[in-house]
Amino acid sequence: MGELGAAWALDWMKRAQVVLGEHRMELIDLDRAIGDGDHGENMDRGFKAVVAKLDEAPPDDVAGVLKVVAMTLMSKVGGAAGPLYGTAFMRAAKVADADLDADAVVALLAAALEGIVARGKATTGEKTMVDAWSPAIDAARVVAEAGGSATEAFRAAAQGAADGAEATIPLRASKGRASYLGERSIGHKDPGATSTAYLLAVAAEAAEATLSVEVTP
Ligand code: ADP
Ligand code: MG
Repeated sequence: MGELGAAWALDWMKRAQVVLGEHRMELIDLDRAIGDGDHGENMDRGFKAVVAKLDEAPPDDVAGVLKVVAMTLMSKVGGAAGPLYGTAFMRAAKVADADLDADAVVALLAAALEGIVARGKATTGEKTMVDAWSPAIDAARVVAEAGGSATEAFRAAAQGAADGAEATIPLRASKGRASYLGERSIGHKDPGATSTAYLLAVAAEAAEATLSVEVTP
């Protein structure tokens, strides 16, 4: 029996809306430097629409929540990120257990990455969101194999994604719009890797909040 269910998934998305709203300008500026400047707007608009949809009719399991996220992002978010994140959440929905333990967290994140790779064909080192998802999964796997909790797995994933996003700075982009810049993409943090780090950071925060609610009588 895992720790994280529908309440966690709904809280994750509420926190995602907040954090992406707070970092809207930062993501716009990052995308201005190596893209077309729409990533912050895309993500802010997309997750506002996600939360509105979830508020209308909250699904009662994790898979249901992730499916609404996927369909909303695919229909409301343009650019590369909409279909990439949409596919990620759709694949994650397909493998999501009703209650996630650490192994299920790894499976969910790995399925999301498979979706991103199936859609965008990027591998690590190409300065994309893959460079945040991939180390996130590696870090979560270490926790799961050591017998850690789902919350600890998300915390590790969040740290892996943040480190991975930082590590995109010296990379030269070879996928997506930033690849048109060639050498000039070097020295900038990838916007999609950065939004991934924020998304996973709030997944961990929501997990911590879920736990603290459970232990408080
Ligand atoms: P667009 O590039 O169409 O304007 P966004 O600005 O919303 O779309 O998203 C840009 C982000 O999408 C990039 O920072 C990168 O992380 C991600 N991205 C772009 N192309 C790919 C790809 N082929 N594979 C994985 N991620 C990609
Ligand atoms: Mg863009």
